[in-house]
Amino acid sequence: MPSCAIALCDNTHLSLKAITKKLTFHRFPVDKIVCSIWVSKCKRKDKINPKNAVICSNHFEETDFVIDRASEVLGMHYRRKLKTGTIPTKNLPLQQGPKKQRSIRKKTTFSE
Ligand SMILES: [Zn+2]
Repeated sequence: MPSCAIALCDNTHLSLKAITKKLTFHRFPVDKIVCSIWVSKCKRKDKINPKNAVICSNHFEETDFVIDRASEVLGMHYRRKLKTGTIPTKNLPLQQGPKKQRSIRKKTTFSE
């Protein structure tokens, strides 16, 4: 089961938070430049494979998404697509620094 590629983010398809917050998971872009930015945003120590990695919607602004109206109208599973060229900007690991600052701007995190 895929889980979010962002370091310090433990969201997976099956996590309670993902279900209650309607998180969506997005594949890395095909565009090589945008893709390399995504990889650098992840701040992972281990190598990630952009071909099967995903990033959860927790790291994008609401305005970065395009709602798939067609599937909404048809009553299908809630789907969102990212606009082309979008890069993750929210809830990202810090460049450096102590771990206790991890909660920076995470207003939706500690509800449980
Ligand atoms: Zn995430």
